[in-house]
Amino acid sequence: MTAGGNGASAGSEKHLIAIRDLWKTYRMGAEEVHALRGVDLAIDRNEYVAIIGPSGSGKSTLMNILGCLDTPTKGEYWLAGRRVSDLDDDELAFIRNREIGFVFQTFHLLARASALRNVELPLVYRGTPAAERRAAALRALEEVELTTRAGHKPNELSGGQRQRVAIARALVTKPSILLADEPTGNLDSTTSGEIMDLFDRLHREGNTVVLVTHERDIALRARRIVAIHDGRISADVPADRAAEVLAGPLEGQRPPEAP
Ligand code: ADP
Ligand code: MG
Repeated sequence: MTAGGNGASAGSEKHLIAIRDLWKTYRMGAEEVHALRGVDLAIDRNEYVAIIGPSGSGKSTLMNILGCLDTPTKGEYWLAGRRVSDLDDDELAFIRNREIGFVFQTFHLLARASALRNVELPLVYRGTPAAERRAAALRALEEVELTTRAGHKPNELSGGQRQRVAIARALVTKPSILLADEPTGNLDSTTSGEIMDLFDRLHREGNTVVLVTHERDIALRARRIVAIHDGRISADVPADRAAEVLAGPLEGQRPPEAP
């Protein structure tokens, strides 16, 4: 697809994700908060990227824009060959459903719906027929090894199991990219390890994974580490150079919550 035709964008459509000079400014009354200040980033299919940085540095703002949950104030975003920056809300919702699987720190499951129903929901929005939807949701639950809990509601599941349901929900649409904003932030360290084993496996199976984390051990699972500071990318290195970035930016962070 060749939407745009802006010379400055040449090549952006080759990447799964390409953003250029992305800005996000929040207006709080008279004050402006520049959450992102000119971010450039390209991510290709089957990459495994960890985004790290201090609290308030713009990580969630960036993830929400990448996930089409929010729009930038300025700049370009290309996703799977399409220029997202100029889509309206309906088009954004459509692209989000097709291309993005999003996993949140706090799971965001519907409390009164079973695991199976939660996983089916993105396909309900898409209008997939019931039988097909159910089969796809069961396959996704199988991928996260939760078939035996399909009928359970979130409050009948452990934190790790809830996150696995949320990951199944993200996978059920077969998205181009799996985005996870601090997916282990509400889990104890053993459960975090299990969830990360699952992300590792999904990456090995060919998925593109981008996750935000505060935790060094988790960042080290990825193949590429992007550090963000004050709304700007301060480092972008392959995992074998992780020591260069992990020494600095994570210091002064609050420690992971006790189990
Ligand atoms: P991180 O995820 O790295 O902790 P965020 O992306 O959540 O950081 O926030 C980046 C900056 O933008 C912070 O200064 C935060 O206070 C501000 N911010 C985030 N969301 C909003 C919002 N909806 N309205 C105003 N300011 C916001
Ligand atoms: Mg955040």
